[in-house]
Amino acid sequence: MAWSLKIFRIAGINVYLHWTFILIMAWIILASLSQGEPTWEALMPVWAILSLFGCVLLHEFGHALQARKYKITTERITLLPIGGVASLEKMPEKPGQELLVALAGPAVNLAIAAILGVYILASGMPFHLFPLFEDISLVKNWETYISILLKINAILFLFNLIPAFPMDGGRVLRAFLAMRYSRAEATNIAARIGQFLAIGFVFIGIMTNFWLIFIGLFIYLGASGEANYEAQRSLLSNLRVQDVLMHQFTPLHAWETIGQAIETLLDGQEKDFLVTEDNVIIGTLSRDDIIKGLHNFGKEERIKRIMNPDWTRLAPEMSLNEAFEEMTRLKRTICPVYDKGELIGVLNQENIMEAIMIESARANAFRTQEVG
Ligand SMILES: [Zn+2]
Repeated sequence: MAWSLKIFRIAGINVYLHWTFILIMAWIILASLSQGEPTWEALMPVWAILSLFGCVLLHEFGHALQARKYKITTERITLLPIGGVASLEKMPEKPGQELLVALAGPAVNLAIAAILGVYILASGMPFHLFPLFEDISLVKNWETYISILLKINAILFLFNLIPAFPMDGGRVLRAFLAMRYSRAEATNIAARIGQFLAIGFVFIGIMTNFWLIFIGLFIYLGASGEANYEAQRSLLSNLRVQDVLMHQFTPLHAWETIGQAIETLLDGQEKDFLVTEDNVIIGTLSRDDIIKGLHNFGKEERIKRIMNPDWTRLAPEMSLNEAFEEMTRLKRTICPVYDKGELIGVLNQENIMEAIMIESARANAFRTQEVG
């Protein structure tokens, strides 16, 4: 996510703060300090908000660490003013595993709430569950701090279990549906249920609370986003690398200069190249590499110096979905395709995007026929 600042790395996962979050924290701290001496009491709301985001962070780690059990890495966790996002490399395909990954986040909040509840009971502290939504700026001592933290975790637990994308509850619902239907169908049904709920939220919101309208719109957009993503995935899994690879391509020789590479770039349609030396592939070169190389070293430098020496071979029978995930994960712009040790073509990200466009146009045409 753009505009965010890395704050630390725990358990091999980078944690980022979005700049809007930093602005809001600065504003809250300044507002607390402007009310006079920076006393412990004046700063209580700040601790409460930091603790709230601590709980959101632990929630995201719940997802990330559960996903790790299925060998799925988490690229980063980002904290935004509206919550957190764990950027998982992908969701597990098996419904049972997706279910556990989705539940792991809310389970963390339930556990925190339970621990705080036990503490409140054991210490004999006064506690009223209602009103559930309390003004965090009213936190002024240890008792109100603990009780608001318990309520926050109860809200995080309940809110995330709303059965609609992009909430965890939406994934839980999809996982249950996927035990009976195909993944694409399950996503569609879950997205419809989510949109139905979202419209309900907006209607109730108009009559009661502004925030429900906001939540409703958020869910509505999330539901269609997930449905589109899944539709794209299922389109890609119907295709194989051999269906879209390019048989015609221009390899560059490692000893060519950046100037020569620019000529080849301007001369044709290709934007990504394989780099060869003595007829062996030794790397790849993208348009961005060429532009960066020109800027840093000038026209006369050999491309061997600026190419990316890491490359990945694909097999023609591989599903396009798998190839796309592999290329995204390893940040490859172009990959050679080998059939039984023989180079038969190349695949780049652009081929995949074109395939998605063509296939989705075809699928839409089919759908219109079906309905009409
Ligand atoms: Zn979550």
